[in-house]
Amino acid sequence: MLINSKLPNVGTTIFTEMSVLAQQHNAINLGQGFPDFPMSATLTNLVNEAMQNGHNQYVHMNGLPQLREQIALKVKKLYHNTINANDEITITPGGTYAIYSALSTILNKGDEVIIFEPAYDSYIPNIEINGAVAVPISLQFPDYHIDWDEVKQKISSRTRAIIINSPHNPTGSLLSNADMQALIELTKGSNIFVISDEVYEHLVFDGKEHVSVLAYPELYKRSFVCFSFGKTYHCTGWKMGYCIAPPTLMSEFRKVHQFNSFCCNSPVQFALATFLQQENEYLQLGKFISQKRDFLMEAMRATPFKPLPSDGSYFQLYSYDGWSNETEKELAIRLTKEYGVATIPVSAFYKNKEEHKVLRFCFAKNESTLAEAAMRLSK
Ligand code: GLN
Repeated sequence: MLINSKLPNVGTTIFTEMSVLAQQHNAINLGQGFPDFPMSATLTNLVNEAMQNGHNQYVHMNGLPQLREQIALKVKKLYHNTINANDEITITPGGTYAIYSALSTILNKGDEVIIFEPAYDSYIPNIEINGAVAVPISLQFPDYHIDWDEVKQKISSRTRAIIINSPHNPTGSLLSNADMQALIELTKGSNIFVISDEVYEHLVFDGKEHVSVLAYPELYKRSFVCFSFGKTYHCTGWKMGYCIAPPTLMSEFRKVHQFNSFCCNSPVQFALATFLQQENEYLQLGKFISQKRDFLMEAMRATPFKPLPSDGSYFQLYSYDGWSNETEKELAIRLTKEYGVATIPVSAFYKNKEEHKVLRFCFAKNESTLAEAAMRLSK
């Protein structure tokens, strides 16, 4: 049987590739972004309780109503936006699913979507499987800011959407209020949608603040804003997230969602509805994770790697400029095989494999893991 592939240029994701290589070589895995420390026992107990209390059947396809209520309260508090839990929130099996569904909702054949590279690796396949075309714009190295003049030049009559991502994977850079103003200016009066990937919303460091599209009514009216419980509560394997969008956009999104996963895991939603009320759990997260960034940075001083700034996310880029001529991928593979430390080559996040001699390190790990990795690399 032959399939006429919808994604002829797609291979296995770099995250799986590096995780498998790490396993084969017994390497410490600072590649794929997931914590190696335990999640909250309170939250796992709440899931247990929900299961034992019989919450094991389908919930509403848009998500458990009381969970959506809690999200609406949180959005009001953090981003001063009064959203309607009934019409504007859908619980999804993960942030990636939310992004994919949003793109499937709005894209038609030949549409163009502007993305900023390095870009999370699901964006382009998500665009292409819908018959649309990704228009990549490189973030400006080394601080990875957006050149808005270039965005203006790349916008065409076919531009259907712009995908933004802050805190940014893989670079750890943040969008600012000025970026939001530029985006408002560029999209004013247009039919361009914004897909805002905010899965690392609480992983922002050094007293900086997450700038959410939800806080800008001018942007929100054209936006699908995507979030992840996995990143907030250290349970990436739960694959739970949500999408927020204005009612008319959300009702179309739900048409896609209802015939895909239909609804999400019930006991987890009951547990999250209770746990979300403990706001300290997410408010202290930036501080907790930034200590890990700092710990790794200190330990990495014993190695020839030089850190680039990371203001948020699970990740920091380290440069090897000046001591190796290998490509990022070659070095990442060699470090895994010979030194027992897996990372992610940032070139994997560029359509044209652009190279700046940087590797992505995930620091959402126990200090002992980070110390051992740096020790191995210091050799
Ligand atoms: N978001 C994770 C990362 O950037 C990977 C998730 C996945 O493997 N699909 O590492």
